[in-house]
Amino acid sequence: MSESGWLRRFRDAGYHSLAEVEDILLGWGATSIGESVDGRRLLRLELGPEDAEECSVLLAGIHAMEWIGVEVALTLLRSLQDATLKRKIIAFPIVNPDGYARVEESLRSKRFRFHRANTNGVDLNRNWSVHHRANLASRLRISRVVPELGHTGGHGRSEPEVDRLCASLENSLADGLRIERVLSLHSFGRKVLYPYGGIWAPPKAQKHHDVAKALEAQLPGYSAVQTSHWVPGSFAPGMELDHFCDRYDALSILVECGGLGVRKTVLSDWWRPFSWFNTVELEAEKRLLRGPLCAYLEGRPA
Ligand SMILES: [Zn+2]
Repeated sequence: MSESGWLRRFRDAGYHSLAEVEDILLGWGATSIGESVDGRRLLRLELGPEDAEECSVLLAGIHAMEWIGVEVALTLLRSLQDATLKRKIIAFPIVNPDGYARVEESLRSKRFRFHRANTNGVDLNRNWSVHHRANLASRLRISRVVPELGHTGGHGRSEPEVDRLCASLENSLADGLRIERVLSLHSFGRKVLYPYGGIWAPPKAQKHHDVAKALEAQLPGYSAVQTSHWVPGSFAPGMELDHFCDRYDALSILVECGGLGVRKTVLSDWWRPFSWFNTVELEAEKRLLRGPLCAYLEGRPA
């Protein structure tokens, strides 16, 4: 299928197709940990010393349309391959490949729809076990009318994309590894988010807040906030941050990469949701985030 001029502009800015992302990751030694709802490979990439006792976990591509997070993850992983790592980095750079493929298909056929969920209509960042509950979309059955808004799934880890990822980490932990910190990459809003998202109260440990504030100081234009306080009254039950914070006592940070992309692109794009989430000034965003986020993943003090 040929690419529209509009899609080509994003491709020229540096965004990869799903096949290209997979080729890059497989070339770096990624392995499959299972299959998505539609039978696509779920990829995991591991860097760092074999005998490390602790690790950092990197997640990206949980939400279908947030391609910038996947691109930033690839940039960080590329840099970390040249670093002398003292810990393992365990990366799941494209958690929702079916969603990514659906967006790609939409863009290629010039249907500029909003996409977020997996193929079952579940928001994969509402499907983790800690603080999991039915969200408004599930309760009001909105998700049957607008499936891409995403419901939370029948229970935590109901979706293969989240379940295989958790199982794969549990296997590593059985070998004595400890998850010390987590970085999850999303879009948009230029925020550094920390737990909790599912409840109003903050976690007992102050470390999430302190490191988020330290990252804020290093990232001009970004601001740190507890997830459930970002839009008061809007909770994120069953999100990855709460899961890693409570289940593993891991330092847990989510970065919303990039601003509202529409400000950086032409006005005629305002009705194309892809441009809200993915700025064409991708290189500048990657340059800004690479240093501080690589240091974070390496476990260096902020
Ligand atoms: Zn997201």
